Amino acid sequence: MASVGHVVVGLAAARFSRQGQATIWSPFSAAVVWSGLSLLPDVDVYGFRLGVHYADVWGHRGATHSFVFAFAAAAIVALVAKVARFPVLRTALLALGVVSSHALLDTLTDGGLGCALLWPFSNERFFAPWTPLPVAPIGRAFLSMQGLRVAAVELVALSPVLAYALWPRRRQVAR
Ligand SMILES: [Zn+2]
Repeated sequence: MASVGHVVVGLAAARFSRQGQATIWSPFSAAVVWSGLSLLPDVDVYGFRLGVHYADVWGHRGATHSFVFAFAAAAIVALVAKVARFPVLRTALLALGVVSSHALLDTLTDGGLGCALLWPFSNERFFAPWTPLPVAPIGRAFLSMQGLRVAAVELVALSPVLAYALWPRRRQVAR
């Protein structure tokens, strides 16, 4: 999946993280942080420049697209939440869901290699039984007609999530 779909998940998580919480975070900073977490597994694309191959353990959709990686990221988020006095369990579970969602959404795409969901126990790459989403071109190649088409399909597929993220808030009327 291209960045667009993962950012949609990040925006929804940002909204959920603020729901019913007194927070000093602006909606914008929450959106940036949660979208960053949602995109985090794709740090592996920088490995290409270092000579890491797609199919390697630390290659694209390898170790960073595993549940163990998502747990590790959620553990770090839990520590930050504790220091920042955010609700620790709620924030960590949301982070676990957001980071795991990345790999699970990637398994729904129709190209590349699957995701090493079970790393470090297995290096097998997994796809979902149904792969309705077109795979996104990597890097600058995303800025092409094919990239635009992929982004459009993702926006439609995730439109309910996007609607939740962006639906206008009901204003509290002061009496
Ligand atoms: Zn990915």
